[in-house]
Amino acid sequence: MDARFLDLAELYGQLEREIGRFQHSGGVRCPAGCSVCCTRVSGSIETSVLEMMPVALAALEAGVGPMLLNLCEQAGDGQPCVFYREGESGGCSIYPLRGLTCRVFGFSRTAPVESAQQIRRYYACRILRDSVLDRSRFEPAIFPLSLPSAVEYRSRLEGIDPTYATPLYGINEATARAIRALGLPFFFRDRRPAA
Ligand code: SF4
Ligand code: SF4
Repeated sequence: MDARFLDLAELYGQLEREIGRFQHSGGVRCPAGCSVCCTRVSGSIETSVLEMMPVALAALEAGVGPMLLNLCEQAGDGQPCVFYREGESGGCSIYPLRGLTCRVFGFSRTAPVESAQQIRRYYACRILRDSVLDRSRFEPAIFPLSLPSAVEYRSRLEGIDPTYATPLYGINEATARAIRALGLPFFFRDRRPAA
């Protein structure tokens, strides 16, 4: 398998452990069934091509790469993420394959180093911020809890593949680019005449 996918899996494993520690010690969790952040337009969910390669690869291997590419191109960045499914639990149809942006939102800080001010750099939606800010008045220990650094994780993506870790695009555009970047061998394979 392409080493990039193994490196991504390792990176996400470490991130999930860090997030788990923060959730456990801070008691910070999304309300059950909430998926408000997934209903924003694609252009506001900034994602790299590299992050969307696992889902692009899965789609290509399943033979639905061209269909997903078409869907992303049609939706563009003015529509919500193509993977959002209203009514499904949590709303994300690719949850195990989602990218870094979707993993860190709500559970990371934007400052590169830990600081007592990290609550100001808490990278989250209004729902989580309000709940944490409310609680921090009564439970000062909730901050500084160790929040994963979104900045550091993003820079580690560059170590995995500097070509596709930047720039950032809306999630639909990033997915389309990931399919095109990985897709050529698959498109040729699909057009090969039967033996
Ligand atoms: S990050 Fe915020 S908006 Fe998104 S699911 Fe969690 S609570 Fe809801
Ligand atoms: S990939 Fe999943 S988690 Fe990320 S924005 Fe789309 S639906 Fe939401």
